[in-house]
Amino acid sequence: MNFGKKLIVGNWKMYKTVTEATAFVDGLIPKTASFKNPIFLAVPYTAIWPLHEKCEGTLVQIGAQNMCDAQEGAFTGEIAGRMLKEAGASFVILGHSERRRFFKETDDLIRKKLERALQDKLLPILCIGETLEEREQGKGEEVLHQQLAALFDGLQWKGEELIVAYEPVWAIGTGKTATTDTIEAMHRYIEKATKELISVKPRILYGGSVKKENAESILKLSNVGGLLIGGASLELESFVTIAENGESFG
Ligand code: PEP
Repeated sequence: MNFGKKLIVGNWKMYKTVTEATAFVDGLIPKTASFKNPIFLAVPYTAIWPLHEKCEGTLVQIGAQNMCDAQEGAFTGEIAGRMLKEAGASFVILGHSERRRFFKETDDLIRKKLERALQDKLLPILCIGETLEEREQGKGEEVLHQQLAALFDGLQWKGEELIVAYEPVWAIGTGKTATTDTIEAMHRYIEKATKELISVKPRILYGGSVKKENAESILKLSNVGGLLIGGASLELESFVTIAENGESFG
């Protein structure tokens, strides 16, 4: 699949019931009907199947926000990649900072999830990012390197695009966006480190308090391959405005 120059991904987190999710997509489909590039929506598990059915034949791709590292088994409350795939998910977000922070996901576990996602034919979106404390200690790049090295250790990348999302933890849901200089420099670092580690040039998304007001200035950066959007993806008008912006780059 061709993702276009700038890939726009919404992350709904734990928002929207099936009814709310369906109403959103009913509004989104006509507004994006003339697009050439896909739009990704990472939705709650319960909404995957109904939205997949609604979006079939459109450019809206439905994905998940997490998955279990095991294929199946006695893991109460978990969900397997093959279940997500069958329900209509085409991609999965892995290693989001909220998973790392609130659910204690380690680099090692995220790496196992990555392997499982690839086996289950789900396109992974790999989230990395430093905390404010790490940044203030001058350890931003070191932390990114550690996260990337853990993810890629021994990995032979054979998939389509390798998608990494740079999401500085201090910018997620806080209203504080990284400056364009910071984004450009950190993306440059991620590209260099990824090439060194697995000889692949990644598509790098930026995520962290992206709004319709600041999306364009970030998208203009040549090493930004798209956006991962939390809060602003929940509201149709703001998400459509950002998606149109992304689409305008071709
Ligand atoms: C996110 O959830 O990945 C995110 C970037 O959230 P927000 O846009 O709300 O900061």
